Amino acid sequence: MTWKQNGIRHDTKNNRVRLSKGANHKEHPKAWEYILVEYETRPGVSVENLQQVRTVYDKAKGRWELHLVCTDEMKTPTTPGNETAGVDLGICNFAAVAYSTEQADLYPGNRLKQDGYYFPKEIAKCDDSDGERATRLHAKWSERRTHFFHSLAKHIVERCVEQEVGRINVGKLAGVREDDNDNGESKNWGRHGNLDLHGWAFNRFSNILEYKAKVEGIRVVEVPERDTSKTCCVCGREDDSQRVERGLYVCEECDAAFNADVNGAENIRLDLSKSNSESEPSLGGDRSTGWLAQPGVYLHELSCGFQPQDQVVDCKP
Ligand SMILES: [Zn+2]
Repeated sequence: MTWKQNGIRHDTKNNRVRLSKGANHKEHPKAWEYILVEYETRPGVSVENLQQVRTVYDKAKGRWELHLVCTDEMKTPTTPGNETAGVDLGICNFAAVAYSTEQADLYPGNRLKQDGYYFPKEIAKCDDSDGERATRLHAKWSERRTHFFHSLAKHIVERCVEQEVGRINVGKLAGVREDDNDNGESKNWGRHGNLDLHGWAFNRFSNILEYKAKVEGIRVVEVPERDTSKTCCVCGREDDSQRVERGLYVCEECDAAFNADVNGAENIRLDLSKSNSESEPSLGGDRSTGWLAQPGVYLHELSCGFQPQDQVVDCKP
C-alpha cells in the first residue's frame, strides 16, 4: 500500500506521521480515521520532504515495514570529465567497457550464468507442498542479480570518474522489447543469445548505471548497436562474414585479433551511427591496438565486489 502526499500528515517536531485510512477501510467513507506512526532515526538522519509512505513486506524478517520516501537534493559535481566511454552488454561478458585512454575492462557474467543454471533447477525440484521454498529461491536469485547489477554499475562509474569520463555510450540492443519481464521470452537478439538473460536484465542494468552515473554528473546515452560487432574499430572495415572465434575478432585488414567484446565497446564509444560531426576521429591506422586484445578483467566476489583478475577468462561464444 502506498500513501501519497495528500494522505500523509508529517509532524517533524515529534517524529510522527499520520496516515489516512483508505475509504474502503473506514466505517464511513468520510470518517476521520488515521494510522498514527512514531518513528526514530539514526543520529544525523532526519526525515524531510516526505513524498510517500509505503508498506513493504520483509521476507527475511517476516514482518511488515513502513518505508518513508523523501526527496533529497544532491549537488551534482559541476565538472565531470570530457571523455566518452563505450559499454557493450552481452552474455558471456556481461559488460565490456572501452575508454579513450586506450584501456578496456571486461566484466564476465559467469556468476549470473551459474545462478541462471542453479536456481531454475532448484526451483523445478520444488513440488506444490514446497511452494515456500520456491518463493525463497526466487527471492534469493533476484537479490543476487540486483546485487550484481548495483556493484557492477558502481564499479564502472568509479572507473569512469578516474578516466575523466563525462558521457557513457551504451549500445541500444536491437530486438529487445522494452516490456520483457522476468518470465518473458525475448526473441531475435542476435549475438547476445537468449539462453540465460533477457532484455529486461540489460534494461534494468542500464537504468541503474544511468542513475549512479548521474550522481557523478555523467550522462548515459543509448547509441545504436547495429554493426558494432562486425566492424573493425581500428580500420573501420566492415565484414558480414567477419569471424569471431573464441571471443576474438579477427581483422584481415589490420592483420590483428582483438577481444570481440572490447571491439564492440570501442565502436559504441566511437558511435558509428554518427558520421563524424560530434564523434571523435575513429578511423586511423596509427592507433595502438594492443589494449584491444588485453582488457583488464574484473570478477565479482560476493563479499568485496569486483576484483581484478590476472588471468583472462576463456569464453566460447
Ligand atoms: Zn581492422
